[in-house]
Amino acid sequence: MKFSRFAEKFQPSSGILQLMDDLGSSLSSDQDVLMLGGGNPAHIPEVQHYFRQRMTHMLDHEHEFEQAIGDYDSPQGNQAFIEALAGLFQDHCGWPVKPENIALTTGSQSSFFFLFNLLAGSFEGGDKKKILFPMVPEYIGYADLGLESDLLVAARPRIEYLDNHLFKYRLDFSQLDLSEAVGAICLSRPTNPTANVVTDDELRSLMQQAESKQIPLIIDSAYGLPFPNILFTDATSFWNEQLIVCMSLSKLGLPGVRTGIVVASEAVISMIGRMNAILNLSPGSMGPALALDLVRTGDILCLSKEIIQPFYRNKAEQTLHCLHEALAGLDYHIHTPEGAIFLWLWIRGLPISNQELYERLKQRGVLVIPGHHFSPGLQEHWQHRYECIRITYAQPEETVRQGIAIIGDEIRKACSGR
Ligand code: PLP
Repeated sequence: MKFSRFAEKFQPSSGILQLMDDLGSSLSSDQDVLMLGGGNPAHIPEVQHYFRQRMTHMLDHEHEFEQAIGDYDSPQGNQAFIEALAGLFQDHCGWPVKPENIALTTGSQSSFFFLFNLLAGSFEGGDKKKILFPMVPEYIGYADLGLESDLLVAARPRIEYLDNHLFKYRLDFSQLDLSEAVGAICLSRPTNPTANVVTDDELRSLMQQAESKQIPLIIDSAYGLPFPNILFTDATSFWNEQLIVCMSLSKLGLPGVRTGIVVASEAVISMIGRMNAILNLSPGSMGPALALDLVRTGDILCLSKEIIQPFYRNKAEQTLHCLHEALAGLDYHIHTPEGAIFLWLWIRGLPISNQELYERLKQRGVLVIPGHHFSPGLQEHWQHRYECIRITYAQPEETVRQGIAIIGDEIRKACSGR
């Protein structure tokens, strides 16, 4: 079958396709796969219990369920949910938002597709603009979203060494070129894949520089504030008309309902509504129906802070401990875990490529993601990215423990030339 030029955008070499294929085949295969690769959130019993109860309530109350499945919402998204979100952001975050500043999408992946193509690409008068990632490694899912080629550009971080085999990436402002060719800046906070949380000071400086050049700054808060708050360090949530904050119900425990939330200026929100109408008619209604009460009451903040955050914090600590044991004596560094659901492992001077390490681990039934995929927009060679892998610790403790032992074993073999 012959496909159009458009189809070239969906080549099988894309990192996100490899990740989603691995995830899909491991979840459906009979073989025991130790899945430390995908970005699937954990099934946290308390969270699942809450949503089961909420669903039962909907089923037991006449019309609630029927309304959630039986009606299209407006292209901007479910109005009651948007109003509840606006209330939560005003009351608990101090953000000066109105419902007109919020739109829903079918997951934040589609929010980024909309935003990147709205804010970068070709402009009237022939100008070309790009999305700048001020600090890679960054989220693999950004890589192939541009409808026009060459839409992304990125800067490398400064590496700060910490005690006990830890390190932290820092924004390197000397590397940032905020010229007119930048249509928007984007960063995830906490960062997928590294578990970094850009500090308040770093973010304030970036906001100032972006504002002085009138460049919108997109903050991807898929794991962050105000929910699901998978943060193990102090951080402030920011919003103003210059910022575009993207959130999602996925990492709260609802990836299946595909609900993204964009908080932005009215001009941006109105464009998202129009794109929703053309591409999806409207975003899904089930996510809003399941989460409405949580948002209205503010309980979503307690669920995040008291259940979800400690759950992942605990797992991060256990996994870190396992990694230190498995890698003892080797030249390794781990990004200090400040949030999200991953650990980012750097084997300095790894004698094989991280792709080869990924293949060897896959042979042994362990799935991770090789780190070089996480540099969307980076043009220059950076050996560091071929020495890193991302390990997800959302799976049950025993799965993670066994996976890490095999990772340690394979790295040890590679480092001793076997
Ligand atoms: N942003 C980041 C940093 C992510 O890790 C993910 C998913 O893993 C997404 C956005 C997309 O999430 P969703 O489309 O499920 O809302």
